[in-house]
Amino acid sequence: MRFLRILSGILIFFLAFFILPGYCFHASAAGRLQPVDGVPVIVIDPGHGGENLGTQAGGIWDEKYMDMVTAQALYDELSLYDDVEVYLTRTGDVDVSFQERAAFAQSVNADFLFSIHYNASEYHDLFGSEVWVPLTAPFNNYGYQIGYELLRGMQDRGLLVRGIKTREGERGEYYAIIRETVALGIPAAIIEHCHVDEDRDKGFCASEEDLIRFGREDATAIAKYFGLKSTALQVDYSDYPLAEVGSANPVASTLRDETAPDVCRIEFLSADYETGVLSFTLSAADYDSPLLYYTYSIDGGQTYSERNAWPGSDVLTGKYEDTFTLSLTIPSGTKPSVIVRAYNMFDPYTESNRYDSPITFSYGQDSRAEEGDPSSVGEGGNEDASGTGTPPDSDTHDPASSNADSQNPPAADPVAKPVSGSAVAGEKQVSFVAFLEICLIIVVFLFVILLISQGIAYQNRKRRRRQGRREFQSRKEDGDTRNQLR
Ligand SMILES: [Zn+2]
Repeated sequence: MRFLRILSGILIFFLAFFILPGYCFHASAAGRLQPVDGVPVIVIDPGHGGENLGTQAGGIWDEKYMDMVTAQALYDELSLYDDVEVYLTRTGDVDVSFQERAAFAQSVNADFLFSIHYNASEYHDLFGSEVWVPLTAPFNNYGYQIGYELLRGMQDRGLLVRGIKTREGERGEYYAIIRETVALGIPAAIIEHCHVDEDRDKGFCASEEDLIRFGREDATAIAKYFGLKSTALQVDYSDYPLAEVGSANPVASTLRDETAPDVCRIEFLSADYETGVLSFTLSAADYDSPLLYYTYSIDGGQTYSERNAWPGSDVLTGKYEDTFTLSLTIPSGTKPSVIVRAYNMFDPYTESNRYDSPITFSYGQDSRAEEGDPSSVGEGGNEDASGTGTPPDSDTHDPASSNADSQNPPAADPVAKPVSGSAVAGEKQVSFVAFLEICLIIVVFLFVILLISQGIAYQNRKRRRRQGRREFQSRKEDGDTRNQLR
């Protein structure tokens, strides 16, 4: 009996301390995976330089200058920490080859190289921040942990996070600075702070103060990663918890997802012909990677709107809203034919079904709604025009990456307004594992309950037997007494 009680106690302990917390707190904090011998040595690499201008799409500065301002601020701020060595790969306006930058990092025994950049896209339609990390474990995993801190900081400032990503090229690592540095046994990451050529990002890099601020915040993220302390700044990150990831395999969310989102559907909700507002329920999902942007067409797919951030998108947690209300203001005189594109964080997209309005929107000055084509079906007139596309990334400032996507210029711009939506989404890739864990928990619970009930039954049987014996004994004694009294 005692054996059973001990066994069930062990099982409950196991359940309470290992399985349940493991299930409930997947994203719990952890320590740094990367071992560091003694004082961390950090190399900051201002991108481009000299003849190599970087992107000029911002219109204010060449990227090489922006990279230098941010890198210098990062250097200055990080130098305020105790027990850290910091270096720059270039201090002047000179072009340094990727091999030379990597060799420099090796010469100072670097623990990490951070390459500082600003981004631009071929069609000037992308916005947000991203970090590129090595393809293979464990450098990939180190890159993930530092990338998470860097991007959380930018997200807190209001930038859209595009992800911690890898890119494979013909020679392994696609990006030369990562390829050359990793080849020498040093982890490296490229920090693309924001897009200089997109209105929603321009405000983050419009002044030198903005560029300095990026550098300072990068320094804070790097200090958190290495658990640094600063007497001058009066901060101590020695116990700072980092994102928890394994180290045996590359982090799944960093690996390029070549497949388009699995679902993208629009359903007619309402049309207000007085104000021109046409509303849909937009439902979409990607079972591999979170959704990041959407665009829409009101002319049947000939032209598309500018990119919009997907509501609730947080690629660091894998979450996004899988359903929301999309309200479009249709210009008067238009008979809209609406298609929506849902993009995942690696840029493949899926097109929704098409909604053909039966009526031409006509309001304001010419306020009578014209009759629609009678052959067109009312609100259910959904012709399935589903399609998918997988355009490559369109980061163009780097000479090594001049691929394009999206053949369509933005449409004359009706106003899009995503109105709230039912949350719940993302982390679908872990849901099967979660299901197995739940099954295991249920089995263990049932086993424990079985053991306990067996134990109780056994004890009851024993008690009954003892009682029976006692009754028999006392009946016998009673009988004896009665016999004696007679
Ligand atoms: Zn660059």
